[in-house]
Amino acid sequence: MRSIPLLAVDATDVFDEITAAKHQLRRERMQVARADVLAAYQGYEDAVPEVGELDEAPLTDLQKEAMRHAFTVETEPMTALRGNLLGRISVARCPFCGISESSTLDHYLPKERYPEFSVFPKNLVPSCAVCNTRKRDRILDEGTNVRMFLHPCYDLIPDTAFLAVRARIEADALILSYHLARPAGMALQTFQHLRSHFNELGLADRYRRMGLEHLGGQYPALRRAYGSGEDAERVAEKLIEGAEDFEVVSGSNYWLAKLYRALADNDDFCDGGFEVVRV
Ligand SMILES: [Zn+2]
Repeated sequence: MRSIPLLAVDATDVFDEITAAKHQLRRERMQVARADVLAAYQGYEDAVPEVGELDEAPLTDLQKEAMRHAFTVETEPMTALRGNLLGRISVARCPFCGISESSTLDHYLPKERYPEFSVFPKNLVPSCAVCNTRKRDRILDEGTNVRMFLHPCYDLIPDTAFLAVRARIEADALILSYHLARPAGMALQTFQHLRSHFNELGLADRYRRMGLEHLGGQYPALRRAYGSGEDAERVAEKLIEGAEDFEVVSGSNYWLAKLYRALADNDDFCDGGFEVVRV
């Protein structure tokens, strides 16, 4: 979960360029739909981040098909937009999970229901394939009516600690369990929003797996810090230094920062227990 910048691009220009690049019938349908689509863009910008209950634009079925086609069957300007959105280093890692490479564009509001936002740059979020697949075409939680997912360009990620991980060594294995905890002062709706995002994207299990994988790569450094003097304190210091670096770059709720802090607090792990992460 991470904030990313918007792409500096004019959405109207993008729409017009893609329209001009389409073949005749769809081009005409997009031209007729233009006023409604641009009005919908304005409605989106006025509502962010609460775009979960926007009215659908009054497009005909053929206009809706043309709008989806503008995204799925690529023209030169659509390919350029995709490249510009995905090519930025700041979004190379998926903002929904903070784990994997951004390789796809997620429609924050799904194009099945809101075809008017098919090529709207602010609705196109660089995403890894896992998050994109898990998110599907969902918008609101039916129980709470809260948006199910954070919009990485618009939702503020709280600074207060809401992500936690427990670490323990059991039968020669490191057991990690990530969970969310509502900090004092956080509004219930904010917490429900974070929790829904965390649960629906399966982040507890994905952080656990990738955390163990990451630690395998850190084994030589832990071993070196421990040294022949078996210096558990040096291992803890090393982990805290790593956590601080992660926090500076990615914020205090970054999943690896949390992991490093939990391990620094774990005496068993620091005093040679780290041998269990050796690949
Ligand atoms: Zn992801």
